[in-house]
Amino acid sequence: MSNLDRQAALTVCGGRGFVVAEPVRELLSPRNVRLGESTEVRRLLPNLGRRMVGAWAFVDHYGPDDIADEPGMQVPPHPHMGLQTVSWLHDGEVLHRDSTGSLQTVRPRELGLMTSGRAISHSEESPRPHARFLHGAQLWVALPDAHRHVEPHFQHHADLPRVTGGGGLTATVVLGELDGALSPGTTYTPIVGADLALAPDTESRLPLDPDFEYAVLAMSGEVYVDGVPVLPGSMLYLGCGRTELPLRAASAAGLMLLGGEPFEEEIVMWWNFVGRSGDEIAQARNDWEKGERFGEVHGYDGARLSAPELPATPLKPRGRVR
Ligand code: MN
Repeated sequence: MSNLDRQAALTVCGGRGFVVAEPVRELLSPRNVRLGESTEVRRLLPNLGRRMVGAWAFVDHYGPDDIADEPGMQVPPHPHMGLQTVSWLHDGEVLHRDSTGSLQTVRPRELGLMTSGRAISHSEESPRPHARFLHGAQLWVALPDAHRHVEPHFQHHADLPRVTGGGGLTATVVLGELDGALSPGTTYTPIVGADLALAPDTESRLPLDPDFEYAVLAMSGEVYVDGVPVLPGSMLYLGCGRTELPLRAASAAGLMLLGGEPFEEEIVMWWNFVGRSGDEIAQARNDWEKGERFGEVHGYDGARLSAPELPATPLKPRGRVR
């Protein structure tokens, strides 16, 4: 999906100063953001209290929305740079088109992974006809300097490895590795993303890597993460230094575990771009506006997105989280 915020701020993220080295329980509240006419999302990252978790730099949770009589998701062609996008659905479907020629319907618990590398453009829409409910998450992963100029490409993986722990826990490995199970999606930093399905009235323990920092996004159900109730649409930041995570579900629940080695490079995020300087961001914006570098998306019924104005004040100095 796209960041459709017309007042997009330049944000500096990453760097060791943001990372909490020990286990913490820090509840992150979502910010409601409208995407186009019919979709409202809850934005968890970047958040006032926290900007990244490992290389995860952007998290939107949307739905479940009843779109039976609506167009649903309609995100026109727009550019990306310096990141990967992960589309993850619990209900509904999203039709993805991009400038490398991809045309792919992504369905619940299938991985749609787009690596922008130096430049890509894409559109995302609810196909016609579509399922009644749309529920999912859109996540971005920042690419490290060594790989941020790779060739753009799109991967679709319908068959992802599963880990079944005791206590009614089923984990689907979306990206990276969890408990020895490895997602086929290409990664560029030590990272994990996993979908956690919990059976009602169960307790379980999820094995973690103490060198990673983690957060859990609640998508549905009544769930307690390390004892903390986390409502759907909220995220609990967990810090580093954990070898396992206690989970309790009072009802059937769906979560996403996001984690990774702390991302030590400082990055600059603005609109749909990740770069290393304000000048690089401005160049990318100009290239998109001139119709250069980001290729063309074919088949989308509508005009492409134009970039918002860059803020008049240049880069916000980086502040500590708290
Ligand atoms: Mn996008």
